[in-house]
Amino acid sequence: MLKEAEDYLKQYFGYSSFRPGQGEIIRNLLKQTNTLGILPTGGGKSLCFQIPALMLPGLAVVISPLISLMKDQVDALLAANIDATFINSSLSSQEYQERMSGIRQGDFKLVYVAPERFESESFLDMLNSLDISMIVFDEAHCISQWGHDFRPSYRSIVMNLNKLNKKPVIAALTATATKDVADDIRNLLNITEGDSFITGFARENLAFHMIKGMNKRDFISQFIKKHPNDSGIIYTTSRKETDQLYNHLKKLNHSVAKYHAGLGEADRKQAQDKFVYDEADIMIATNAFGMGIDKSNVRFVIHYNLPRNIEAYYQEAGRAGRDGEESSCYLLFSPQDIQLQKFLIEESNLDFQKREQEYNKLKQMVNYCHTEKCLQSYIIEYFDANSKMEACGKCSNCMDKREQVDITKEALMIFSCIKRMGERFGVTLTAQVLKGSQNKRIKELRFNELSTYGLLKHYKEKEISDIINYLLAEGYLLLTDSQFPVVKLSEKSLPVLKQQEKLYMKMTIQAFDTPVEENSDLFIVLRTLRKQLADQEKVPPYVVFADTALREMSQYYPTEKDEMLKIKGVGQMKYEKYGVFFVEEIQKYMSENNIEVEKKTSERDQNIPLRNQEKPDVPSYLHSYQSYTDGMSINEIAKARNFSPITIQEHILRAVREGQEINWKNIFDDETEVLILEAVQKVGTEKLKPIKEELPDEVDYFSIKAVLTKNGL
Ligand code: ADP
Ligand code: MG
Ligand code: ZN
Repeated sequence: MLKEAEDYLKQYFGYSSFRPGQGEIIRNLLKQTNTLGILPTGGGKSLCFQIPALMLPGLAVVISPLISLMKDQVDALLAANIDATFINSSLSSQEYQERMSGIRQGDFKLVYVAPERFESESFLDMLNSLDISMIVFDEAHCISQWGHDFRPSYRSIVMNLNKLNKKPVIAALTATATKDVADDIRNLLNITEGDSFITGFARENLAFHMIKGMNKRDFISQFIKKHPNDSGIIYTTSRKETDQLYNHLKKLNHSVAKYHAGLGEADRKQAQDKFVYDEADIMIATNAFGMGIDKSNVRFVIHYNLPRNIEAYYQEAGRAGRDGEESSCYLLFSPQDIQLQKFLIEESNLDFQKREQEYNKLKQMVNYCHTEKCLQSYIIEYFDANSKMEACGKCSNCMDKREQVDITKEALMIFSCIKRMGERFGVTLTAQVLKGSQNKRIKELRFNELSTYGLLKHYKEKEISDIINYLLAEGYLLLTDSQFPVVKLSEKSLPVLKQQEKLYMKMTIQAFDTPVEENSDLFIVLRTLRKQLADQEKVPPYVVFADTALREMSQYYPTEKDEMLKIKGVGQMKYEKYGVFFVEEIQKYMSENNIEVEKKTSERDQNIPLRNQEKPDVPSYLHSYQSYTDGMSINEIAKARNFSPITIQEHILRAVREGQEINWKNIFDDETEVLILEAVQKVGTEKLKPIKEELPDEVDYFSIKAVLTKNGL
């Protein structure tokens, strides 16, 4: 029988041998057994039912979720001289009648229909009058509530199938391999486990990459520059982002199209065609785009935001490289996207259980972003915990050549801290306790009295969270499934606690005394200022300040008088004449570009009387903070402490970042916060100036910085 199937494969499709899974599925269907086939995207699911449809007597009814998908498949079949047609709402009533009568006359071997068709009595009557060879559920995951594309009309077919006089054999095909979904499909369609065929899920021609901490737009510009004329898809979470990125790339003269559910049908169709026919290289889209697009030469898929779960990610990323050629998938990770996905879960009308499940899936998606495992293996093991895959050798984790550092000691401290905190708190608070933060909440909970308080104080809070996230991703710690998840120890931590296992992590160790580099951008800014001042005074620029002075300024960022006086070539006179302007310019530059520098207090500072009254062992920024919470205004503090207001603002926010409490309402209201966050969604956080430009004039830099601090951005 299989031999005969192979002849069909050659004769109609021109291929010489079956791909993994195809032969088994076809044989099973020819035996008239209900069958589930789970093959990756591009694995060749269509042939699994098309060949039996050709070989068996009668008509195969293929249920397909999308009109475009039906049309493409029917076109491909017609091109191979196979009698096929489709019925859906896009047909005129004349076309519809013609096709229906063709079906009655037995003109076709396959008919593609939308799931809703089964709700029509006349359609069911017609099926009852015909010889049906097979009912095919293509994209069968749509039947399952656990699936990511659940379609109620897919599920209701099952009931209507009972109205058929004779039960035809059922074929179900999908690329979604989670156990929940597979079980659901099997239960609903009466398929045994033995009749399920799951092939390896790895997509060997795809290289997965995780990009962290990089400006997303910069990444995309550079990527497109390096891969001109390649066809690719960029997925964003929101329509707004699709629009913005599209406009941005369009302005840069890239060949782009866009697609989201907010566009009219005609626009969507046009965009899709442009992309499919290679008239536009890059499609920027929400997840509304892609199902049913069998474009085979997609060379890259970039996720601009964190997807909501691994299923959706693998399906979308899997649209790259259907033709088997080497292709790549990038995920641009930024932690704020987690908040967005949580928000979407909260907004959805899901019941408690389903919501918890979505949180669980999101958590595993986030773990994917923090794992050091081979990314392809992580995905494969997500779908099937029993399958162990060898590292792919080409994902960004496999290619990460950084040394692993022994973090056993840090991990033990983290474990013990979590235990002592009663396993009732999240990642942030745990990291803050280990950092020894002054957070009021920590004091209220008396966590500052724990023996683990401040144990990792020489690390940055973010570095501690990074380690915790890594331990979560590797399964040494667990997070509960909820909006505010709690960290707990897992069984996997036991051998580490018993000192039987050591833990390693790839870390970028930050050198403490990196030589101070000059900021050439700032140098240019300062040179322009110098030219203006020189022109006003009608003197050559070097008379104002020498290049070496500007260079030192762009190295050390002097933002206070005493600091400026330490720059070579800046004396008291020149300071008063020119230096003040440079101080202002540098402050402005730093705040626009979100630059912060730790300045060592020099002996000279100690001589300034005002600061001498302050307790010497309390850092300067905490003094500013204290004065602020005592009710002084920023300008008052600036005057009293002989700093610029911008420096005081920085002081306050720094204190907050390190765990001090603040009443944000004194700085910005809810509405302003929303505006600022929206601006951030648009332009990122790399620089403050573009954020400011997105906002009404009355929103000042301090509010922006404060909102960023509050939201951990
Ligand atoms: P899926 O539905 O699983 O995503 P398709 O059925 O669209 O994948 O098949 C993807 C591509 O693989 C198509 O271009 C198809 O012609 C090709 N293909 C399918 N089976 C074989 C085979 N046995 N040998 C070579 N190419 C195949
Ligand atoms: Mg398919
Ligand atoms: Zn890998």
